[in-house]
Amino acid sequence: MNANPSTSLPAIGFAVPTSRWEDAVAAGKSPPELLLYRSNQLGADLSVTNFGGGNTSAKLPGTDPLTGKPVQVLWVKGSGGDLGSMKLDGFATLYQEKLIGLEAHYGGPQDDDRMVGYLPHCTFNLNPRAASIDTPLHSLLPFAHVDHVHPDAIIALAASTGGETATREIWGGRIGWLPWKRPGYTLGVQLRDYVAANPGIEGVMLAGHGIICWADTAKDCYEHTLALIADAANHLNRQLTGRPAFGGQRQPARPDRAAVAAALLPRLRGLMSGARRKLAHFTDDPATLEFVCSADCQRLAAIGTSCPDHFLRTKIAPLTLDPARLEDEAYLAQSLQAYRAGYAAYYERCKHADSPAMRDANPVIVLVPGIGRIAFAADRTTARLASEFYGNAINVMRGAQALGGYLGLDEQEAFDIEYWLLEEAKLQRMPPPRPLVGRIALVTGGAGGIGAATAARLLSEGACVMLADRDGEPLEQVRAGFARRFGADPMRAIVCDVTDEVQVQAAFEACAREFGGLDILVANAGIASSAPLEETTLALWRRNHDVLAEGYFLTARAAFPLMKRMKEQGGTSIVFIGSKNGVAAATNASAYASAKAAANHLARCLALEGAAAGIRVNVVNPDAVIRGSRIWDGDWRRERAGAHGIDAGAELEEHYRQRSMLKRDVLPEDIAEAVYFFAGDLSSKSTGNMLNVDAGNAQAFTR
Ligand SMILES: [Zn+2]
Repeated sequence: MNANPSTSLPAIGFAVPTSRWEDAVAAGKSPPELLLYRSNQLGADLSVTNFGGGNTSAKLPGTDPLTGKPVQVLWVKGSGGDLGSMKLDGFATLYQEKLIGLEAHYGGPQDDDRMVGYLPHCTFNLNPRAASIDTPLHSLLPFAHVDHVHPDAIIALAASTGGETATREIWGGRIGWLPWKRPGYTLGVQLRDYVAANPGIEGVMLAGHGIICWADTAKDCYEHTLALIADAANHLNRQLTGRPAFGGQRQPARPDRAAVAAALLPRLRGLMSGARRKLAHFTDDPATLEFVCSADCQRLAAIGTSCPDHFLRTKIAPLTLDPARLEDEAYLAQSLQAYRAGYAAYYERCKHADSPAMRDANPVIVLVPGIGRIAFAADRTTARLASEFYGNAINVMRGAQALGGYLGLDEQEAFDIEYWLLEEAKLQRMPPPRPLVGRIALVTGGAGGIGAATAARLLSEGACVMLADRDGEPLEQVRAGFARRFGADPMRAIVCDVTDEVQVQAAFEACAREFGGLDILVANAGIASSAPLEETTLALWRRNHDVLAEGYFLTARAAFPLMKRMKEQGGTSIVFIGSKNGVAAATNASAYASAKAAANHLARCLALEGAAAGIRVNVVNPDAVIRGSRIWDGDWRRERAGAHGIDAGAELEEHYRQRSMLKRDVLPEDIAEAVYFFAGDLSSKSTGNMLNVDAGNAQAFTR
């Protein structure tokens, strides 16, 4: 028993999966629960299946809810979903007898799409989970338990000129071989007939795709699947030993690649015109570097990906850039233009009379020799997954080359899957994206009350957020909380003192490298102090102006070049968190109030200067946001209470509530709402403005 094997793949080569099956855990599970257990164990291992890939099934006894009679029910992973994380409700359940009866409606390959429409009629027990197009592969095979997976080691065989020979060599006829056929009812029929003609075989390789295999029990099926993958991986690793992959190295990896990527990503993102804003994901792991630095990179990349799962995520082929010309703006623009023209030509060559309209023609994967791999997509999770799928494709190419030669999928077949009408219908049913999907925000003072509330607001509307804060510990707490709430993909955190020019530059570089650029800056990091003029030391004066004026200047200056890249895509937004005291005079707070006033005027100057580049700059003026504030935790609270002659506890909050015209508390979430308004398109025609969020304060009325 191996209770906790590693889920990570070796840097280079094929991982050999080991069994995670625990009899003690499996004991007492019902047959559907055993199917789920097997599926989760398969999906938990990256060497067995990548995200969303593969499906499992079991033919189990059930009771017809209408007649009370015993029936056989096919439990099969439903459409969408992921083996590793699925629950019992992720399975479609269908009457096996009705599924078998569907063949009466089948006249040949031209009926594949129509057959999908019959599947819902076979639903057992009103299960709302939609059956996937792979359902016939499972229903037409006469075996109790069936697994279908696409691990790298298997696709490497399935997509190689030497794959069929290697299959015979490894398994000596126990595993069959079916030529490429795209998933659907016809493939199910071909598979069934092949198995009937080859009695005793234990599984079938599906060329250009994956493998399907079976057994009599859930445990046997699981271990059989694992053993086949291990056989393939061991065979490939033997072939790979001692020979340089991809024709050997053409050039070394550049030591400055992280900085190069930080400069390149925003350029490319800005040039990806004609579509929604994109998020980027950059990788320079050893396997990627080995590929992009190799002699064969360009040639193999042009062949395109093989397995349908891969190219649906990565597009048919990546864009490869000349690393010597990354600074040349015209070259980058031409390269993207040429890629889009090539994609349009592919669409024109392959389209049918009823094909859906051409989708976004920009590349998903960009390869840069010496630097690494970049993925672009509408959101960060999709970008990361696309990147990981290309990582799988690289692994497949490595293995397939070692067995003979790598084979891509036929262009027309690829097109027919990419523009499959039923898939288009699914896309059309997707809800519209949240308003800030595709936007990248950097929030300074991100661990504080207003900063964290603002970051949460932006994340909940779909933005990616780089949290910057001077204090590492509270920053980590906020980051960890957000990662649980929003997932790890859309957020990063970096320690940054906004008064340190080098740290500010590093934070914006990290934002560019992690996400691809910048659309929203929320300058929020602040301090507060209170002292009569004659007791205001030069150090106190400078401290206020360092953080509140110079800190805003440094962050805005670092944001401008990144934001200018997005001029053609609807522009960008800077929001300063100001203060009532930036507008209204304050007693015993001249250093603080004058620094806030400087920030207000800085915002107006930047609004003027940034307009031509589509950069909007606005100010939100809070007052007395006490709850959750780290500023109000310290001396400031005691000092303000002292200045008003009240205690620093509940009395202080009541004091501010009563001082407001509306007699209401102002909360961090109220400020976040105003920031959200200025950050996105709701305020696309507002710049140089100020919005007071202070429950009403006549002193702070702008005039
Ligand atoms: Zn498949």
